[in-house]
Amino acid sequence: MHELLTPKSGEKHLLLGNEAIVRGALEGNVRFVAAYPGTPSSEIIDRFYQIGPDAGVYVEYSVNEKISVETAGAAAVSGVRSLCSMKHVGLNVAADAFMTLAYVGVKAGMVMVVADDPSLHSSQNEQDNRYYAKMGNVPMLEPTTPEEARKMTLEALKISETFQIPCMLRTTTRVNHCRGPVTLGDLPTDAPSGEFKKDPFNLVVIPMVGRKLRLALLEKVAKLQEEADRSPFNFTEGQGKWGIITSGVSYLYVKDAVRDLGIEDKVKILKLGFTFPHPKGLIRNFLEGLDKLLVVEELEPFLEEAVRMTAQEAGLPVEVAGKGAQLIPRAFELDAVKVKRALQSFFGVSYEPPQVFAVPQLPMRPPNLCPGCPHRATYYSVKKVFGEDAIYPSDIGCYTLGVLPPLKMADFLICMGSGVSSSGGFSKVLDQPVVSFIGDSTFFHSGITGLVNAVSHDHRFLLVIMDNGTTAMTGHQPHPGIELTPQGKITPKVSLENLVRGCGVERVFTVNPLQVQKTQDVLQNLRESMKEPGVSVLISKSPCPLYENRMLHKKTKVVFQVDASSCDLCKRCLTELGCPAFVWERSASGQECIRINESLCSGCSVCSQICKSIKPKRVGEGKGGNE
Ligand code: SF4
Ligand code: SF4
Repeated sequence: MHELLTPKSGEKHLLLGNEAIVRGALEGNVRFVAAYPGTPSSEIIDRFYQIGPDAGVYVEYSVNEKISVETAGAAAVSGVRSLCSMKHVGLNVAADAFMTLAYVGVKAGMVMVVADDPSLHSSQNEQDNRYYAKMGNVPMLEPTTPEEARKMTLEALKISETFQIPCMLRTTTRVNHCRGPVTLGDLPTDAPSGEFKKDPFNLVVIPMVGRKLRLALLEKVAKLQEEADRSPFNFTEGQGKWGIITSGVSYLYVKDAVRDLGIEDKVKILKLGFTFPHPKGLIRNFLEGLDKLLVVEELEPFLEEAVRMTAQEAGLPVEVAGKGAQLIPRAFELDAVKVKRALQSFFGVSYEPPQVFAVPQLPMRPPNLCPGCPHRATYYSVKKVFGEDAIYPSDIGCYTLGVLPPLKMADFLICMGSGVSSSGGFSKVLDQPVVSFIGDSTFFHSGITGLVNAVSHDHRFLLVIMDNGTTAMTGHQPHPGIELTPQGKITPKVSLENLVRGCGVERVFTVNPLQVQKTQDVLQNLRESMKEPGVSVLISKSPCPLYENRMLHKKTKVVFQVDASSCDLCKRCLTELGCPAFVWERSASGQECIRINESLCSGCSVCSQICKSIKPKRVGEGKGGNE
C-alpha cells in the first residue's frame, strides 16, 4: 500500500509539502483531481495518479490548467469534493474559468493549489499569485510547512464548502519541495456520488445572473474576512514594541533571524496563514501599541499594502515598512541572512553577517539537452535547411534549451503556446522564413488554438511539432497523444497528424529526426512549398530516450566512437551538434583530440550521420578509436 494511503491516523510520516497536500485532500474526501503538471506543483498530480485507483479518486492530467479548473469545478458543483493544481503561470491560463467560478460557486469543497516559484527555479517569470485571490475575491490559505499544508488543505475544503466558493491554497517552491514530519489524520470511507441540481439562474452567468452573483460574492468576502480574523492559522507569538507580520516560508526565516539576533524579548510576530481576505481586525489589534512594524514576505508587497491601509484606517501611529533598500527585496526568494540584514537595518540591532569561506569552484554544468535527445537532431536539420536568417519562435518544454549554443534555435518565447501564435505575427510583418517549435504536450495544452488561428488567417510559417511522446519537462506525465505506457506501445487516443489535418493544414509530414538526411529532404521540400501562403506542419517524432528507457527498459546496445585516425578536428560535432557525450581533450603532449564518453552516449547515431569519422561499437566490445 502506498504510504499516502495508510489508514493509521496519528502516525508520523516524512512527507514532501506536495505529498502532504495529497494526504490532506484524501483525508478531506476529495474524489476528483485534475491538473496540468508544472514545477513546483507536479508531484501533487503525479502522486494522485499513482494512488487514484486504490484511493477511489478520479484523476486526470488535463490538457491545460483552464480545463482542470473547469472539470474540477463541475465535480464540485455536483457535490463531489475536488482539487486542481497548477504552477503560478498556469493560473494565467486558468484565469478565465477561475474568475467566474468564484461567482458561480461550488456545492462541495474545491481547493485550487497554486504553486508560485520565487527565484524562477523553473519558470519564465516570478509573478505573485496572491493578487489573483484578491482580484478574484477567492479565499486563500498559505502554508509554511508540510504539516500545515496537510491541515490547510482540509481547512480549504471546509471553507470552500461552508462559503460555497473555491478556496486557493497558495504555496511556494520551498514549501512544495521541502520534506517534514506530518501527523496523519483519518481517511474517510464514504464516497459521495455526484448530483447536479439544475439552477440556471445561479449557474449560467448571463449578465443578469452575473450582476446578482457579483453582489453575493462581495457579501461572501465580507463574511470570509471575519473568518480570517478567527482562523487558527493566523496567530501571534512573542512580545515587545517591535512587530513583524509574515506568512508562508518567510515565517521560518523570521523565526531564525529573531532567534539568532537575540531579540526574542523585543519582537512580536503575527504569522498569517489565512491571508485573503486580509484579517483586518486581527492586524489592527496587532498593530496597537507597536512602535515599528516590518512586513516580511517574498515577492510583492501584498500583505504590506493591507497592513499600511489598516494602520491608516485605524489612525495608528506605528511606523510600517516592508519592501525597500536595505529592507525586504522585491525580487527572488528570501533567506535567513537577507531577513537578518533587514531586521538589523529596520530595528537598529547589531548583526555580523557570517564569514563566507571560499569553497572550491564546482565545474560548470550548463543546462543542456540530453545525449541522444531527438530535439537536438531536429534543430540540427532545421538549421541546416533554414540557416541563421530564419526566425525561430520557440515554446515551453525541454526543447527550450535549444536556445543555448551551439544550436541557438530559439528567438522568441513568452508562454505556453506562444511559439505558434507569435509565428503568425512574425510571418505577417517579416520577409524571412519563420519556423516555430513546440512540443507534443504543449501543442495539446495551448498550441492547437494558435494553429487554428494561423490557418484561418493564412499565416505563412512552418510549425515543427517535436513529438517525443511525453510531457518530458515536468517528469514524463502522459498526454492525449502518448504511445508508450508501462505496458508497452499503444495506439494513441488522439492522433497528432489527424488533429493537425483537422485544423485545416494540408502540408503535414511526419519524420524521424534521427534519420538526418531524410529529415533534411522533407524540410527542403517544405521550404520550397512555403513560397505558397499557409501553414505547413512537420511532426518530428522520436521518443524521449529517458522515457523510453524507463517505460520499455530499453538498453543501449550500440554506442559511437571517434576514429582518431580520420578525425580532422574540424569540431563540427561540438559546434554544430553539441551532444554532451562529446569531449574535447588535450593530451599531455599537447595534442588535441575529440572523443565520445561512451557512458553518456545513447546510441542515437545522429553524429555518425554527419561525420564519417564516427563509428558504431557494440557495448562491451574492447576499446577502440581514441576512447
Ligand atoms: S569527430 Fe568528426 S565532426 Fe568531430 S572533430 Fe572529428 S571530424 Fe570533425
Ligand atoms: S550517438 Fe552521437 S549524438 Fe547520439 S548520443 Fe551518442 S555521441 Fe551523442
